[in-house]
Amino acid sequence: MAEEYDLVIMGGGTGGYVAAIRASQLGLKTAIVEKRELGGTCLHRGCIPSKALLRSAEVFATAKHGEKFGVMAKEVALDFNKVQERKQSIVDQLHNGVKHLMKQGKIDVYEGFGRILGPSIFSPMPGTVSVEMNNGEENPMLIPKNVIVATGSKPRTLPGLEVDENYVMTSDEALRMESLPSSIIIVGGGVIGIEWASMLSDFGVDVTVLEYSDRIVPTEDHEVSKEAARLIKKKGIKLFTGAKVMGDTLEKGDGVSVQAEHKGEMKTFHADKMLVSVGREANVKNIGLENTTIKVEKGVIQTNEFYQTAESHIYAIGDVIGGMQLAHVASHEGITAVEHMADQEPAPMDYTKVPSCIYSSPEMASVGLTEEAAKEQGHNVKTGKFLFKAIGKALVFGESDGFVKLVADADNDDLLGVHMIGPHVTDMISEAGLAKVLDATPWEVGHTIHPHPTLSEAIGEAALAVDGKAIHS
Ligand code: NAD
Repeated sequence: MAEEYDLVIMGGGTGGYVAAIRASQLGLKTAIVEKRELGGTCLHRGCIPSKALLRSAEVFATAKHGEKFGVMAKEVALDFNKVQERKQSIVDQLHNGVKHLMKQGKIDVYEGFGRILGPSIFSPMPGTVSVEMNNGEENPMLIPKNVIVATGSKPRTLPGLEVDENYVMTSDEALRMESLPSSIIIVGGGVIGIEWASMLSDFGVDVTVLEYSDRIVPTEDHEVSKEAARLIKKKGIKLFTGAKVMGDTLEKGDGVSVQAEHKGEMKTFHADKMLVSVGREANVKNIGLENTTIKVEKGVIQTNEFYQTAESHIYAIGDVIGGMQLAHVASHEGITAVEHMADQEPAPMDYTKVPSCIYSSPEMASVGLTEEAAKEQGHNVKTGKFLFKAIGKALVFGESDGFVKLVADADNDDLLGVHMIGPHVTDMISEAGLAKVLDATPWEVGHTIHPHPTLSEAIGEAALAVDGKAIHS
């Protein structure tokens, strides 16, 4: 069977399915090819299930420590089956929602593995997509005017630390755990490593983090990284930065043990399980790129600012092009790509205005340049910082660690970056994102009235602090 489309999207993750909805709104006849489930990594193996587990961990930890709120909960116990059931029911509900949106948008969904063909009887140009159907039906040929490659990424492992389901996991397997280990070694203290360290520690697991770089969450502002390390250690997590894990020393049997070089010494670490969280690699294999002139460099597809590859009618978005591997980045890239192919003249995305969030306890969130990056780029930097311990609502919450920090240009008052660590900062970073989009100065952010008592007062105060005018410090 051959079917013509205006747009065929390979991959129905957050990037792919959002692009499909925008295409449908613009009247494009659209199909998605998805080999697993609509919603992709974010919905099934990433953002949503991990946040559901983090929320259970937070409720458990809060209940255990209820006495500080005057709530004497006795014998607080964890039913991990229920935790997993709750997670799955949230995922299922959202999955049904995405399927409904596809029907509503009259978007055809092909359940199977898509490959791009070169010039063929179907088209003189590369871009016909052949689908190997999951149900074994004959491969449909989809003949599109445009293609979007949105095939996402998968967890990377390290030599010697390959996944084995029993002892060594990536976040994919960890999300499916049926019971909690009593101890775990987490290799990699980036976003996934720290979210899992925090969650498992709150569930009562003994956690050790081995991070190669000299600080955890190394892409965050230095001060945020330092505060995160302090608070993570305060939770009882054992943190080793500058640790070079030797994959070939891994031993399995009674749990796992591995050696790492740390501060010039070889140390042995032992635990029930190991989680490897050292980044994700783009899914560029077996999808037919070799039948095109599309360039892959350092493992990711190369595009221009509108996400066109070297074949201008084939676009690529999301994790498969590298950069900020975030669901909201993928979906906005998808919208930009669709609007570009539909001659809507979208503006290119400005990545300095994209917020990113880490959902550990404490939470972290940021947008724009870190203080170090701003200095490296030659800005004459001024900063303002305000601690949550001076914010009434943070004390009421019982979570008063952390701060909000603004980075600005002292010469022209441009707001360069906002960095936060502390309670609910992932919900507060959007204000900073809006300030960046509207080109607000710290003065404008500081004179925006933040209701009292709220955690958001820390943003207003940090903005005033840029020029030494914070009220409560
Ligand atoms: P990451 O790049 O955030 O962190 C990987 C960490 O592993 C880094 O700190 C790195 O220094 C360390 N590392 C690399 N090699 C190592 C080694 N041999 N030994 C010890 N440490 C080593 O990657 P991740 O945490 O795996 O996350 C993957 C992607 O998924 C990221 O881009 C992340 O932004 C995204 N993600 C985002 C969220 C969110 O938005 N909250 C959640 C999960 C994942």
